[in-house]
Amino acid sequence: MPLQSINPATDAVIATYEEMSAAEVAGIVDATHAAHLQWRTTSFDQRAKVLRAAAHLLRSRADEWARLMAAEMGKPLRDGVAEAQKCADCCDWFAENGAAMLERESVRTDDKHDSFVLFQPLGVVLAVMPWNFPFWQAVRAFAPALMAGNAIVLKHASNVCGCAIALERILREAGAPQHLFRTLLIGSKHVDAVIEHPLVRAVTLTGSSEAGRAVASKAGQVLKKCVLELGGSDAYIVLEDADLDVAVTVCAKARLVNGGQSCIAGKRFLVVEAIRAEFEKRFVAKMQAVRQGDPLDPATEIGPMARRDLREEMHRQVTASIERGARCLLGGSIPPGPGAFYPPTVLADVRKGMPAYDEEVFGPVAAVIAVRDEAHAIEVANDSMFGLGGGVITRDLARGERVAAALECGCAFVNEPVRSDSRLPFGGVKQSGYGRELSAFGIREFVNVKSVVVN
Ligand code: NAP
Repeated sequence: MPLQSINPATDAVIATYEEMSAAEVAGIVDATHAAHLQWRTTSFDQRAKVLRAAAHLLRSRADEWARLMAAEMGKPLRDGVAEAQKCADCCDWFAENGAAMLERESVRTDDKHDSFVLFQPLGVVLAVMPWNFPFWQAVRAFAPALMAGNAIVLKHASNVCGCAIALERILREAGAPQHLFRTLLIGSKHVDAVIEHPLVRAVTLTGSSEAGRAVASKAGQVLKKCVLELGGSDAYIVLEDADLDVAVTVCAKARLVNGGQSCIAGKRFLVVEAIRAEFEKRFVAKMQAVRQGDPLDPATEIGPMARRDLREEMHRQVTASIERGARCLLGGSIPPGPGAFYPPTVLADVRKGMPAYDEEVFGPVAAVIAVRDEAHAIEVANDSMFGLGGGVITRDLARGERVAAALECGCAFVNEPVRSDSRLPFGGVKQSGYGRELSAFGIREFVNVKSVVVN
């Protein structure tokens, strides 16, 4: 089956890619392993030089990468430029800080001559990545992995093959050895065979919980290390002492990041009953004011959804929630015309048993849930199979810290939307996955932590 890139703003087919054969894929893994054997002998300075050159290409040609993202998955140009710049910052950050995180660590053992810990690369890591941040997701996987001396084969989402090919070219232009980073043009049903390849040593997947389950099962069968960054349906708690203007600004921004197609987008807004009516009024006005349109128009704040099938599935979640008693305050219907556009939507009176409460809603749809007080808010926030990123809005920072600590999730932010940051670990608990990306925790996921004792 050929892989297709379809512009979600116009429905035009932009490009068609022939899938690689099994033999071709196996040959690429062999070549990537050979590149790793050479790369692991290089110094941290040599690896940092490649990452810095990649950073330069990502930053200086950000507009080109943004146009590619806009065409393949509908990201507005200014968000694409910001994404390319964030990728550049990530490469620079690991180039600057990676060595210190992987330096040999001495351990005091008085009965031995010497003892220490080495952090050594594992080899070829398979990265299975989603389309929503087509550059960022891949870069945050490869920058630490390459700095640690690993090599990468990337199986990107089938609708963003152009971005995947661009990433391979960027690394080559940056001076990475041939085959150190290779893109595999394959559909998801061929991922198992790649995991089984004896020279693939580990897998990192960012995607839905279903994909996570499939990849983790296969990795488990063949006993390979696996990091999973999966979906979320995280809660933003708005306490009664919140500044309501700050609250609605943070909540709208959190919900509409990347047109709502982000794992850490705020999805359930838990608002204390005393301020709920006023919150709903101002939140609807904020969501309504967002400019949706052509991703290539510099004024556009949100574009279409990435694919029509994703829009159909999300609309099913919206209509099922309304049928079960949710009040639709804004949006909620598919507009006529080409493309996969879906309007910013606000559902109120959302309760357990509705898809907007129980499932991940991956688009511009906010669910407002009334709660009695702080304790009830924490209980509802944690009443989810997911646990990725959550937030709390309050004027009392000590209270904010206390609530953040009580949330069952991998990242909790007080008074701002959750955001990944190279300096901080990123990942989830429960059905949101396991393992961490970014920071020292991320770079150490794909290394052999080796104890050496000398007597
Ligand atoms: P997806 O359908 O799960 O796809 C993600 C990747 O996994 C794609 O490359 C896909 O390939 C592949 N895949 C799908 N099913 C697979 C299977 N059974 N075996 C092996 N590989 C499989 O997710 P998406 O629609 O691209 O992305 C949205 C999801 O990603 C959301 O749930 C979102 O929350 C999550 N996400 C999580 C994070 C995080 O950091 N935690 C970040 C971003 C997104 P094909 O495209 O060929 O199907």
